[in-house]
Amino acid sequence: MSWFKRDKPADEKLPKVENGERRVRTEGLWQKCEGCRQITWKKNLEANWNVCPKCGAHSRIDAVTRLKLLLDGGEYVQFDTGLRSSDPLGFVDSKPYHERLRGMQQATHLGDALISAAGTLDGRPIQICAMESRFIGGSMGSVVGEMIARAIERALERRTPLVIVSASGGARMQEGAISLMQMAKISAALMRLDEARLPYISVLTDPTTGGVTASFAMLGDLNIAEPGALIGFAGPRVIEQTIRQKLPEGFQRSEFLLKHGMLDAVVPRLELKSYISRALKFFVA
Ligand SMILES: [Zn+2]
Repeated sequence: MSWFKRDKPADEKLPKVENGERRVRTEGLWQKCEGCRQITWKKNLEANWNVCPKCGAHSRIDAVTRLKLLLDGGEYVQFDTGLRSSDPLGFVDSKPYHERLRGMQQATHLGDALISAAGTLDGRPIQICAMESRFIGGSMGSVVGEMIARAIERALERRTPLVIVSASGGARMQEGAISLMQMAKISAALMRLDEARLPYISVLTDPTTGGVTASFAMLGDLNIAEPGALIGFAGPRVIEQTIRQKLPEGFQRSEFLLKHGMLDAVVPRLELKSYISRALKFFVA
């Protein structure tokens, strides 16, 4: 009896190993679309800026790809690459914050969750910030706040428009109240941009939530979003528990927010550059 019992698990193990091998061989080459559940060759997807060629669903792109998409020739100059968080609270969760930062910096080759750059969009010089959601969820701490504030100051000095592309889980927990203070700091700087009559276009991408939605992401002269992006302040479960009601279908997605007056437009990624170009022509003339 004992022989059979030992044989069976051994038989079961065989196909598992085969599956494992098969998975390793194709890993990274194919991607399943969240929209249509179809498998697409990853290279085709990337060539289409991560927009599914079959159904048009938008998968996330990183900050570097975002800048390549929007700026002429994919060329830009970066600013404030040397800024680093000082870990003011000495915060420790599952690991010390300074270790988490170092790991993220190595993985993304960025100092923090944002790239601040200058380039031209259809020939027009702009200041642009693109958030990096892979860096601690694109969370906003002191460095992200300072980089955006400095980008606004450069826009004021050079009298150029500003574009900020958000992709963020909100304020960075590990920097506590210092993260929250960035909301006021950036908002005040944007007010000066407004007084100088320089346009600011906010592009909300998947996901834009928390303190980022509650500050600069919603303060654009135009607030435009990519299709199907998750945009909100608190998560749906918290809201349901607070108001004791079931939330409607598609709640906190771009299209729903546009319908309810929270956004000015939903613009597909492949049309984003020409849309912003036209908008700036309208604002600046
Ligand atoms: Zn698809």
